[in-house]
Amino acid sequence: MAITDHVDLPTFIEGVQKRNPGQPEFVQAVQEVAQDIYDFIADKEEYHHYQILRRIAEPDRIVSFRVCWEDDNHNIRVQRGWRVQNNNAIGPYKGGIRFHPSVTESVLKFLAFEQTFKNALTGLPMGGGKGGANFNPKGKSDHEVMRFCQSFMTELYRHVGADVDVPAGDIGVGGREIGYMFGQYKRITNQFTGVLTGKGLEYGGSLIRTEATGYGAVYFLAAMLRGRGLNLEGRRAVISGSGNVATHAAEKVVQLGGKVLTLSDSEGFIHDPDGIDQEKIDWVKAHKTRRRGRISKYVEAFPRATFHPNLPPWGVPCDVALPCATQNELLGMDARALVSNGCIAVAEGANMPTNLEGVHVFKEARILFAPGKAANAGGVAVSGLEMSQNSERRAWKEAELQQLLLDIMEGIHARCLEHGRQPDGHVDYVKGANIAGFKKVADAMLAFGVV
Ligand code: NDP
Repeated sequence: MAITDHVDLPTFIEGVQKRNPGQPEFVQAVQEVAQDIYDFIADKEEYHHYQILRRIAEPDRIVSFRVCWEDDNHNIRVQRGWRVQNNNAIGPYKGGIRFHPSVTESVLKFLAFEQTFKNALTGLPMGGGKGGANFNPKGKSDHEVMRFCQSFMTELYRHVGADVDVPAGDIGVGGREIGYMFGQYKRITNQFTGVLTGKGLEYGGSLIRTEATGYGAVYFLAAMLRGRGLNLEGRRAVISGSGNVATHAAEKVVQLGGKVLTLSDSEGFIHDPDGIDQEKIDWVKAHKTRRRGRISKYVEAFPRATFHPNLPPWGVPCDVALPCATQNELLGMDARALVSNGCIAVAEGANMPTNLEGVHVFKEARILFAPGKAANAGGVAVSGLEMSQNSERRAWKEAELQQLLLDIMEGIHARCLEHGRQPDGHVDYVKGANIAGFKKVADAMLAFGVV
């Protein structure tokens, strides 16, 4: 058999498993996409011949490096940093940096792979990448975080650049960390360029970047509901997480007339039967971001709420759900609980929060289900707009950016419909997103030949 002959799906997945031992998150992400792509390319010989899926599932390069820093007690600490540059067929690599003890090469490879499709879906010229370190910012002083960020950038600066690879924030990396990394990049290179997004407004950041992922996820949710003649007015929403994505998703649900019942962190969830309104969301933002506190403290500020340690919020009856914390936080049993409690729509604010079994449950139940690569693309989309503003050396107005975000999310929704509409009218958003994202990257790769 010639190597370019068709390899069937199980053989392809077996190969991915063999080539990536001990990397379950990466294999999971590839498996989820491969099923849909195989259906799509069944009669498209060129994609098979040029091994396009195999090539997208093999990162262009991975840089791994030591990050040394000194803590406040003068102990020398050693962490591992990575940048995974997955694919730059349609633009410079683009994707966040994550600082969390759970970061591994597998996690970053899955995120960079997903990012490649997500960025294509936005319609903006951005390739896919992701980076991070197994550093835990929790409990660290400002100066410790600063020294870590500076040490991380002292290696990373060689591999990034405004036209090469443009990182942003992710879990554990917000405005403070981006500021420290941008400062170090500028110091080393003596260049003020748009090398990072998610910057402060004083030094080249974009309005609404902070809000964009959470707002965008809710715009996508609203677009799905509209397709069934529904809206968010009066709907009960269950949200996980209490960071950037979760709090802004909550804010937009409230603005569109919904009632947010839960938020969570890695220690458990809070349930507020009165609804988490804007004032309470502002309290959470200040508590989590500025004071870096735990969500359990919410019940002291708002005593009608209850705290449920070490549990996700998926057992709380709701109409819509937005998982906005981390990968694999919504399992098969959680998906079954949501469906049996009457949940009609799920939009993933986080990346791959639903495991394969959970996705299967949602598909079987034929509820509206938006995968992260479509629903949470608003953040990277506004990052793309930040890059354009930096190149122009201009700052666009808020109203203009709000409209662009809404347009981009509607555009992603339309692309999902184009490729995900089933003969009976039901929309498989996972399939739609996978195929639309793949097609754009794949066609660019075909144009370049074998490289
Ligand atoms: P933040 O660091 O601001 O918040 C993360 C939240 O998730 C925190 O509440 C955190 O709780 C919780 N969390 C983290 N790990 C776990 C865990 N293992 N179990 C339960 N809860 C956990 O990150 P973001 O809000 O920026 O990111 C959230 C998700 O959204 C991630 O999947 C990220 O990749 C994705 N995303 C983010 C984008 C952005 O623009 N920021 C863009 C697109 C996707 P705790 O405080 O206890 O750690």
